[in-house]
Amino acid sequence: MVLYRVLFKKKKFERQLSLQKKVLDSILSYCQIKHPEECVLILKGKSKHGNILVDGLVIPPFDYVGHTFAGFPSSFLPFDMSYVGIVHSHPTGPAEPSLTDLQNFFGLVSVTVKSPYNDEDIFAWDSSGNSIKLVII
Ligand SMILES: [Zn+2]
Repeated sequence: MVLYRVLFKKKKFERQLSLQKKVLDSILSYCQIKHPEECVLILKGKSKHGNILVDGLVIPPFDYVGHTFAGFPSSFLPFDMSYVGIVHSHPTGPAEPSLTDLQNFFGLVSVTVKSPYNDEDIFAWDSSGNSIKLVII
């Protein structure tokens, strides 16, 4: 699985996540609908030289939801090079990813949204829990 290794290789350069405004709006309204439950969505897009562009969302199959972590067994996901990461909500508490979030890291970027799910409540993280610059386009 050469392609798989390329996608999941951890590189140590500055990353930036660009999120289309319509994608941001979809994420925020989905989180609001699911509140107070946690929700999770797959981020679709592309990555080039550390810059990740998200231009779509996928509702994961077999998602399961709890109050501490929303996730899905990634082994059930169809392999798709356009899956760049996941976004999930934190109905309570800070936006910082939990240890569980980092252990369940998927793809290149993890995005969290904290309540009350406004434009400034969304944050991007790398697999080490470091903040990634988030730009709305
Ligand atoms: Zn979380």
